[in-house]
Amino acid sequence: MRALALSLASLGVPVIGVFAFSGSVQEDQGMLIWLTSLVPAFLLAYYRGLRGVALAVAGGMAVLVLTQVVVLVLGQSAPNWTLLLTIVSVYLGVCIALAVFAEILHRERRAAELLALVDGLTGLPNRRHAEITLDAQFAAAGRGRKLVVVLYDLDRFKQVNDRHGHQAGDTALVAFADILKRHTRRMDLSARFGGEEFISVLTDVDLEDALAFANAVREEIRAHEFEWGHLSVSAGASRYEEGMGTYEVLVAAADRALYAAKEGGRDRVVAAGPASSAAPVPPRSEPAGTTSPVPATGKEKTILLVDDDAEVLQTLSRRLQACGYQIETTDDPEEAIRRYTDDASAIDLLITDVMMPRMNGLVLVDRISKIVPHLRVIFLSGYLQHQVSWSGLPGAVVGFVAKPVGSDFVGVVREVLERALPADITPGAGVRQG
Ligand code: GH3
Ligand code: MG
Ligand code: MG
Repeated sequence: MRALALSLASLGVPVIGVFAFSGSVQEDQGMLIWLTSLVPAFLLAYYRGLRGVALAVAGGMAVLVLTQVVVLVLGQSAPNWTLLLTIVSVYLGVCIALAVFAEILHRERRAAELLALVDGLTGLPNRRHAEITLDAQFAAAGRGRKLVVVLYDLDRFKQVNDRHGHQAGDTALVAFADILKRHTRRMDLSARFGGEEFISVLTDVDLEDALAFANAVREEIRAHEFEWGHLSVSAGASRYEEGMGTYEVLVAAADRALYAAKEGGRDRVVAAGPASSAAPVPPRSEPAGTTSPVPATGKEKTILLVDDDAEVLQTLSRRLQACGYQIETTDDPEEAIRRYTDDASAIDLLITDVMMPRMNGLVLVDRISKIVPHLRVIFLSGYLQHQVSWSGLPGAVVGFVAKPVGSDFVGVVREVLERALPADITPGAGVRQG
C-alpha cells in the first residue's frame, strides 16, 4: 500500500506539472519532470526485494537525467522529443512488465514456502515443520516446560492399499489427519511425519493427559466408518526427560513405545516407561585434537556402522579405518540385526544414527540387545542440543556423538570400546504398557 501511494504520488507530479506549468514544461527542462513516471516501477521492484531490477530502473533514471543535463549545459539544440518520448515509453513498458513478473515470482515463492511446511495430501504441517517445532520445544523443555511427543502409525495400512486401492488409502490418511487436527490445541502441533505416520508435539501437558489425548484420537479413528470398513492406529508417547540431549532421542523413545504397541497387538497407546537400567552416558569434555591415529588396544576391533546417509558411512569408515579399526557398514537396520544374529561376538561396537527412515536407532539397539545383552553402542545425532546423560538408552555402554562428527570422534570410540561392560543388563527395558 505504501509503494502504491508513493507511486501514484510520483505519477501525479508530471500530470499536475503539465497542467499547472504548461509553459515551462514545453521547454527543455520539461523532460526531467517526466522521469518521475519511472518511480512506480522502481518502488515496486525495490519493495519486492528485487535489488537488481530496482538498480536497473534507478540507473536508467540517472542516465536520462545526466543526458538531459549534458544537453542543457552544452547548449545543444533541443532533442527530438517524439523519439525521446518513445524511448521513455518503451523503457516504462519494460519496467512495468518486469515489476509484474517480479510480483508473480514473489507470489510463487510464497506459495512454495508455504508448501514446504505443509503436507500436500492432508493439509497438516509436514515433517520439516514438525522438526522445527520439536527443536524449539525441546529447547523450551530444557528450561522447564513440559513436553510430550506422541507418534502414530496406522495399523495394517498396506492391506488397505492392497485391498481397496491407493485412493482409499489416501482418503483414510485425510480422515485421520482431520481427526488429529480437531483434537490438537492451537498451542500444540500435529503433523504428518512420514507415509502413514503422524506426530503430536504437546506442550504444558502431563504424560497422563497426553495418553488420554492419544487414546481419544485412537478411539475416534476406530469408530470412523469408511466405505470399505474400519481402521485402527497404534501410538507411542514419550515425555521429555533431563539428559535426553536431542529431540531425536525423545522421538526415538516414542517410536520405541510405538513399536511395543505394535508388538502388543496394535490399536493401543503405549507410554515410554521409566528409565531402564542401562548405563548412563558419562559427561565428556575431551579437548579437541587429543586423538592419536593408533587404537589403544592391540587387538583389532570390529565396528558396525549403521546410517541411512551413504556419505556419513563413507566418511566415518574412512576415519576409523585410518585408526586401524575393522569397519562394516550398512544403511539397513534389518541387515545390522541379521549381522548380530549371524555372529554377535564378531562385532565390538555398534555406531548407529538415531533417526533413520526404516527404524530408529533406539529400536535397533533394543532389538539387538535381545540377541546380545552386552552391547557397546554409539548413537549419532544431527540435532544434539546438550550432552546426553539420559539413562533410558538401550545398550550396555553408550556414547553420543553429534553429526557432523568433530575431532573427538575417535576419542569417543576408543573410550566406549575400553569402558567395562556391566555384569547384568535387562534387555528391552525402558518401555511399559500404558
Ligand atoms: P503396521 O500395522 O505394522 O504399521 O502395518 P502396515 O501395513 O501399516 O506397515 P507399514 O507401516 O510398513 O506400511 C506403510 C504403508 O503405508 C506402505 C505404503 O504403501 C503406505 N503409504 C505410505 N504413504 C502413503 C500415501 O501417501 N498414500 C497411501 N495410499 N499409502 C501410503
Ligand atoms: Mg509405518
Ligand atoms: Mg503402519
